[in-house]
Amino acid sequence: MQNINELWQQILEKLELRISTVSFTIWIKPIKPVDLDEKDNLVIASPSVSAKNQILRNFIDKIADCASEVSGKKLNIVVLDQNEEIEYLDKSKKVEIAPSVKDEPNPFTEEFTFDNFVVGKSNQFVYSAAQAVAQNPGSNFCNPLFIYGGSGLGKTHLMHAIGNYIRQYSPELKIKYVTCEQFTNAYISSLLSPSKNKAVMEFRDLYRNLDVLMVDDIQFLSRGKEIQEEFFHTFNELFSLGKQVVLCSDRHPNELPTLEDRIKTRCSSGVIHDISKPDLETRIAILKKKSQIEKYNVDEEAISYIAERVDSNVRELVGKLKEIFLMAKIKGKEMATIEEAKEIFANQKEEIKNELTPEKIINVVCSYFNISTDDITGKKKNKEIVEPRMIAIYLIDELLSLPLVNIGKVFGGRDHTTIMHSRDKISSDMKVNRKTQTLVNEIKNILTSSF
Ligand code: ADP
Ligand code: MG
Repeated sequence: MQNINELWQQILEKLELRISTVSFTIWIKPIKPVDLDEKDNLVIASPSVSAKNQILRNFIDKIADCASEVSGKKLNIVVLDQNEEIEYLDKSKKVEIAPSVKDEPNPFTEEFTFDNFVVGKSNQFVYSAAQAVAQNPGSNFCNPLFIYGGSGLGKTHLMHAIGNYIRQYSPELKIKYVTCEQFTNAYISSLLSPSKNKAVMEFRDLYRNLDVLMVDDIQFLSRGKEIQEEFFHTFNELFSLGKQVVLCSDRHPNELPTLEDRIKTRCSSGVIHDISKPDLETRIAILKKKSQIEKYNVDEEAISYIAERVDSNVRELVGKLKEIFLMAKIKGKEMATIEEAKEIFANQKEEIKNELTPEKIINVVCSYFNISTDDITGKKKNKEIVEPRMIAIYLIDELLSLPLVNIGKVFGGRDHTTIMHSRDKISSDMKVNRKTQTLVNEIKNILTSSF
């Protein structure tokens, strides 16, 4: 039988021609094919409950039509959200991954692999060190590995690459990747738990029985005495057992005032190295690689044009590539050229003038959730409206920093305490719920890249 990924790829190619580019990018691209069972159920997974609802409401018929055309028989489409997907995989045990990790979803971004990372002068040392860690975690030479460098230069990518590699080749190893904030929050919630001692024990049990611990963005480590102690002891315990520790930060450890001297000393016995800005040649290679992975049709001249203009942040570099590709698509062109590249960069000044407003944020949130602006600013209390309303409030606060009273006015004269409550609710949900985090970040990306 045809491989499900190939089948889904062919379905996507057909869907792309029938659905607007924006909807395709937002709703269809993130879908993951999960299973094609013997009863002709094609099971697919969306990243969130709201995405699932959108798909069921607006795209299910088109997906079913394309699926039937590609497979030559009628397929029944079953859409799962993220949690349902986990349950489904658990029940069916059909996943072809290593036994020790088959119950868990992959915590690492699949595209962040060593293969997908372009190596140049700016990052070759760190790349080799990360590979050495992945191939031989805990060996003396690269332990701990401390990677530092500016935003968007590939630190998180390399940590995930280590994770993906170990998951594939040494699935028996216990490996954990957390941001510094997640580590801190997990510890604080154990301290606040009604059964504190048990919760703290569980926390330690989890973090000190690992083969590999990776903590990202360590510059955010708080100065609080308790968290400093906990971090040090976790780190020390793993280190003394010969387990691997990988840390990332935007600065050299010596420039991190919140990192204790005893941790800095430990780090200097391993490898501390920076990733610097990629040179032109590497930037061009990165753009070519991304075009190939994402199937962006962008010609060489346009690629050089982008690479010459964005020189300090790979995230931004790749963002521009996507914009140029999408602009060509919207115009109905097969291939993006220098024409779109020039347009996108010329629009930049305009974009700054064309500032975000509360109304624009509300419009984007409404079209994302497919609800009306009257509802979002009105009095309805059903969940389908309340959640988008709180997200819109959160985003207006975050992106525009308006006084809460003014935000209240936009939402039908709501009191500033109500606005504060909505904002704080989303902000705390995002810390504990990955779905909310993904959802809000997705909308934020749309907003920040469109205006
Ligand atoms: P950081 O953690 O340093 O802020 P990320 O690892 O999140 O940066 O990288 C930002 C984006 O740039 C990601 O999409 C990543 O895949 C991409 N990227 C960065 N460096 C490279 C590289 N050398 N090759 C390919 N992609 C890269
Ligand atoms: Mg990062």
